Amino acid sequence: MSLSQPKVANLLTCPHCGNDTEFFEIADDVITTTHYIQNSDGSFTIESKSSQSLGDVKLFCGNCEEDLSSFHQRFSEMIF
Ligand SMILES: [Zn+2]
Repeated sequence: MSLSQPKVANLLTCPHCGNDTEFFEIADDVITTTHYIQNSDGSFTIESKSSQSLGDVKLFCGNCEEDLSSFHQRFSEMIF
């Protein structure tokens, strides 16, 4: 019985410059919800923050800023 090797995932790579480490995302119409806890001295502490985009979400290469939105679906499935 042989153990199967863990599969090495294909890295998302910018077809323009070859960058495979830095990417950024721009989201339109973002609603940000922030939950606060009030402390006994009247100050507030952020408990949690969430954001939801109602518009387009675009993915860009962090190096050359090429629009990589065609990879966005795959990108969003690989965020852990
Ligand atoms: Zn690039």
